[in-house]
Amino acid sequence: MTIDKNDLISQAKANYMNVYNLQDVVLERGDGCYLFDTDGKKYLDCAAGIAVVALGHSSPVFKKAITEQMDMFSMCTGSFVTPSKAAAADLLTKASGLDRVFFCNSGTEAVEGALKLARLWAHKEKSPDAKEFITFRQSFHGRTFGAVSVTEKAHTYPEFGPYLPGVQWAQYNDVDSVKRLISKKTCAIIVELIQGEGGVRPATPEFAKGLRQLCDEHDIAIIVDEIQTGMGRTGTMFAFEQYGITPDIMTLAKGLGGGFPVGAFLAKEKFGKHIGPGTHGSTYGGNPLACAVALAVSSEINQPAFLKSVRDTGAYLKEGLERLKRETNSIEDIRGTGLIFGIDTVFDIKKLIKKLLENGVIATQAGDRSLRLTPPLIADKGHADEAIDKIGHVIRKGDL
Ligand SMILES: *Cc1c(COP(=O)(O)O)cnc(C)c1O
Repeated sequence: MTIDKNDLISQAKANYMNVYNLQDVVLERGDGCYLFDTDGKKYLDCAAGIAVVALGHSSPVFKKAITEQMDMFSMCTGSFVTPSKAAAADLLTKASGLDRVFFCNSGTEAVEGALKLARLWAHKEKSPDAKEFITFRQSFHGRTFGAVSVTEKAHTYPEFGPYLPGVQWAQYNDVDSVKRLISKKTCAIIVELIQGEGGVRPATPEFAKGLRQLCDEHDIAIIVDEIQTGMGRTGTMFAFEQYGITPDIMTLAKGLGGGFPVGAFLAKEKFGKHIGPGTHGSTYGGNPLACAVALAVSSEINQPAFLKSVRDTGAYLKEGLERLKRETNSIEDIRGTGLIFGIDTVFDIKKLIKKLLENGVIATQAGDRSLRLTPPLIADKGHADEAIDKIGHVIRKGDL
């Protein structure tokens, strides 16, 4: 049966909860860095499901892991040890230097777990009054109640309130603004080392170090949200490695499953030891299927040659973007490292993304006006050239 594209789109528009501005494209299949629509049109995927599809579409590594695990079994309760979960836990704790891990199904769940763990630790080791979280302007941590409570944009919807009490707002890259908020009631600081949804805004080294130092001085937990920046996205396994700091608690998702829904939070023993049976859990979290994929994807990423290739392709892509900036007068700013970039242009961002799509490039918006590129981590210089060519073509034409 041939699918009528327009029927499908109007059906979807009528049936879906209207949370996304739907594109006039029906995606059908993917291969590596490319996606194909129902008309057979080919797109260079510079979104990768927002920094998710690390190994590309229809990755053989991903497929092998999932089918092999499916042939064994796919589900049991968390009270059993399974080979894929034990191995994934070992890999992630070793790679991060953290001591314990809990697997869940998404980023927002990882954040919820991290916030709960911080409170659990503070209640037992600090003071039962130490409940407050410090978070940042332009932050993004997810869509469930705890996560939206520490996400700035969510607060533009008073309809959903009241949010968690005891959340304080500091300015990103401003250690003094954090210092002013610290009291005996502070439990944890939650921070992204590159604010992804906020527009791809990297933390300065002084800021990251300053936060770590403040947390040490005042016995506060630092939760580093690496859901977007982790799993090789910035050219190292985790972004924190580039800042010379270690988180107390860290959240992961997105790239972790390379397209399979899986998240995790990890913690140092000082924090992790407080989680006992009954304090947390998840039916699907850590299921054998998710863990088999997470293990395969993480093993692939956590190799020096793979990470070097991310850095090399990223540096090459950045050079190309800088060249476009010099040549066109249409680019105002380029931020990011590894294979995550935020680009401010003179154009209306929504129109730009639509034009790019028409020209065979899928990219996303970050913040109010930035174009975000987060291609699969397997992208090579040929893909970077193609991205630069196509983006260059669209912004040179400039009829936006
Ligand atoms: C995407 C994201 C989340 C939320 O992850 P979901 O899987 O969508 O729940 C949380 N924090 C950061 C930094 C993210 O980029």
